[in-house]
Amino acid sequence: MADNTYMLEVVTPERVLQSNEVSFTVVPAIDGELGVMKNHAPLVAALNIGVLRYVDAAGSEKSIAISGGFIEVLDNEGRVLAETAEHGHEIDVLRAKAARERAERRLEQRAENINYTRAEQALKRAIARLKAAGAYSD
Ligand code: ATP
Repeated sequence: MADNTYMLEVVTPERVLQSNEVSFTVVPAIDGELGVMKNHAPLVAALNIGVLRYVDAAGSEKSIAISGGFIEVLDNEGRVLAETAEHGHEIDVLRAKAARERAERRLEQRAENINYTRAEQALKRAIARLKAAGAYSD
């Protein structure tokens, strides 16, 4: 184990996605991207829908799509509790593209029965998944 690493755990109500040593993490906190290295001060922050990036102990960068939640950092342990989370490699890109198109179509409509906040959230989740999978384009 490299001496610049700390433990990062990512859990959802459904599963433990990850519990590994990392050297760096960037999370989409509600007031901007937040980077965490070893020996970070204790912290609790709310997270937006977005992409969490980390560098693992072997030095490779990985991405996880998350749809909001919290991070706690204490004593060289980072814990992310997210509503949903997927590793970039496990994302179904076609599903995320379909979700993106569905949400964009809804947002373009001017109809009373459309819940725009819900469609915006769905669009953000789809875009985060496409970015984490490396499949996002404007
Ligand atoms: P969809 O409209 O495609 O269902 P959604 O944003 O409504 O997307 P969520 O409610 O956020 O989906 O997630 C439901 C479950 O499906 C969660 O367990 C989530 O991890 C998983 N999931 C959603 N989209 C994908 C995807 N593109 N690839 C893999 N897993 C996904």
